[in-house]
Amino acid sequence: MGLQELLSAAQSIVFFGGAGVSTESGIPDFRSADGLYNEPAQEYPAEVMLSRSFFDRYPDRFFRFYKEKMICPAAKPNAAHKKLAAWEKRGKVKAVVTQNIDGLHSAAQSRVVWELHGSVLRNYCMDCGAFYGLEYILRAADVPRCDKCGGIVKPDVVLYEEPLSERVVEGAVQAIAGADLLLVAGTSLTVYPAAGLVRYFRGKTLILINRDATPMDDRADLVLRGKVGELLSEVSI
Ligand code: NAD
Ligand code: ZN
Repeated sequence: MGLQELLSAAQSIVFFGGAGVSTESGIPDFRSADGLYNEPAQEYPAEVMLSRSFFDRYPDRFFRFYKEKMICPAAKPNAAHKKLAAWEKRGKVKAVVTQNIDGLHSAAQSRVVWELHGSVLRNYCMDCGAFYGLEYILRAADVPRCDKCGGIVKPDVVLYEEPLSERVVEGAVQAIAGADLLLVAGTSLTVYPAAGLVRYFRGKTLILINRDATPMDDRADLVLRGKVGELLSEVSI
């Protein structure tokens, strides 16, 4: 059976995605040939600059890199985000689990979204907890400071060396464990612990859509090597 038939036959679909879901919105991923990890000579490797110890030690360099490379305020949901939101409204998709921090699933009106790595749209003062939107970070000249207490305002994004939110992991695990079809797309499945959550799936059908090969290709019932937005836009369920 193909993508259309498998998705039509499923009762409760859960989507598990990564940076490849947003490349068609113009946000570069990490590990594609044109991804962030293959860009020439950064000051430090991206994994280092996106680590908690780097953030604590060099907040100014962290925010320079973060604002330039991790935030794309003009990006809009693409066909993949929109289809998933429409299928949720129809009761077919039960949840979206994403490693992305761009907020595009919510922008497309998906309601049950487990953001394993947080969101650039939420930022909190590290001292008093005050909330700030993305605009506040973008407006700051260098390190964003809380206008109430002067503390550093940190994006609600999980940096390397930081743990995932237990509440979010629990929600994601429950969703994945309850699905009869898991659609995995746009992820290299190499970033742990996030990628390990796929192992909680015990339903019937595992579909994998990714431009490059992944470590779980062998376990999928259907593997498609294409663009997730393009492929999903051809499906109607
Ligand atoms: P990754 O960069 O490791 O892998 C992305 C995968 O998507 C690649 O294997 C690539 O072949 C595939 N891909 C790219 N475009 C595609 C498309 N249109 N259709 C189908 N497949 C496509 O990404 P990852 O596995 O999500 O891990 C990277 C980490 O980086 C994540 O934890 C995420 O938080 C973060 N990240 C997020 C964003 C974002 O929020 N948009 C962007 C870059 C990185
Ligand atoms: Zn504060």
